[in-house]
Amino acid sequence: MQIAILSRNKKLYSTRRLIEAAEARGHEVQVLDVLRCYMDVVSSKPQVHFKGECLPNYDAVIPRIGASVTFYGTAILRQFEMMGAFPLCESVAISRSRDKLRSLQLLARKGVGLPNTGFAHDPDDIQDLIQMCGGAPLVIKLLEGTQGIGVVLAETKKAAESVIEAFMGLQVNIMVQEYIKEAKGADIRCLVVGDKVVAAMKRQAQPGEFRSNLHRGGSASLVKITPGERATAVKAAKIMGLNVAGVDLLRSERGPLVMEVNSSPGLHGIEQATQKDVATMIIEFIEKNAKPHRTKTKGKG
Ligand code: ADP
Ligand code: MG
Repeated sequence: MQIAILSRNKKLYSTRRLIEAAEARGHEVQVLDVLRCYMDVVSSKPQVHFKGECLPNYDAVIPRIGASVTFYGTAILRQFEMMGAFPLCESVAISRSRDKLRSLQLLARKGVGLPNTGFAHDPDDIQDLIQMCGGAPLVIKLLEGTQGIGVVLAETKKAAESVIEAFMGLQVNIMVQEYIKEAKGADIRCLVVGDKVVAAMKRQAQPGEFRSNLHRGGSASLVKITPGERATAVKAAKIMGLNVAGVDLLRSERGPLVMEVNSSPGLHGIEQATQKDVATMIIEFIEKNAKPHRTKTKGKG
C-alpha cells in the first residue's frame, strides 16, 4: 500500500516507528509535514499539493497532528478523505477529541464513568460551580491544554475561587473537575487499536506532583488492567470514533473513570514500558481495514 504519515518531523520516535513498521511489511511510506500541504478546496477533483507537487491518491493516511495545528491539520486530512484515502483516525474524530469538554459530553451521553465536571462562563457562578463539582480539592483545566500544561490542582475552596476567577478574567475556557485523590497521582494509559487494548501502562507522577504526564516527569510502568478497565477504554475510543486512541483512566473508588481520549498517542512511553510493537499493530489494523472511500463521516461535522 501507499501510506502517508502526516507528521511535522520524521525523526520523532512515533513517526520513525510507524515508518519502520510499514516498510517492514512491504508498504511505501511518505512523511508529509502537514503545514507544507495545501489545496484548491473548490476543485471538483480533490487534490493535495506538497512543496510544488501534486500528491498521489494514498491508500491510507496516518495523521499525527499536533494540538497546535489541529485546525489546519484536520482540514488537510479531510481533503485526503475526500480523495478516498483511508484515514487511520478521521478528521472529525480528531477535532472532537481535541476539545476536552465536547469529548466528556459525548462520553457522558453514553454512560461512560467520568469525574464530576463543571463548566461556567460568569464569575458570579463560581460558588455554585465549585459546589456542583463537590467542593475543594478541585482540578481546573484549560479546555485545549495538553501534556499537563494548564491543569491546576486547587487544594482549598479559596484557591479554587481565585484560580477560576483568574482564568475567566483571561477569557480562556476552563472546566472544573472533581479531584480523584485515591488515584494517588497515577493514571492508566490504554492504547486502543480497533476494538482492543493492545498495551497499557501506569503513569505515576513524580513526588509532590499530581500530574502523571511523562512530559511533566511522570514515570511509566507495565500494568495489568481489569476487564472493566479494558471495556471502558474500548468503549470510549469507539464513542469518539477513533480507531487508534490513548485512553487515560483514573482508578477511583467507583471504578475506572475516563480522564481523556488522545487521538495521536505517543508510542515511545508505551512501547518502552510494555515492550509491545504497537507500531506494527497499527499498520496491521490499516491493512485489514483500509478501503477507498470508507470514512464514516466523509469529513462532515
Ligand atoms: P492533559 O491533556 O494536559 O494531559 P489531563 O486532563 O490528562 O490533561 O491532566 C493531566 C494529568 O493531571 C493527568 O494525567 C492526571 O495525572 C492528572 N489529573 C487530571 N485530572 C485529574 C483529576 N480529576 N483527578 C486526579 N488527577 C487528575
Ligand atoms: Mg493527559
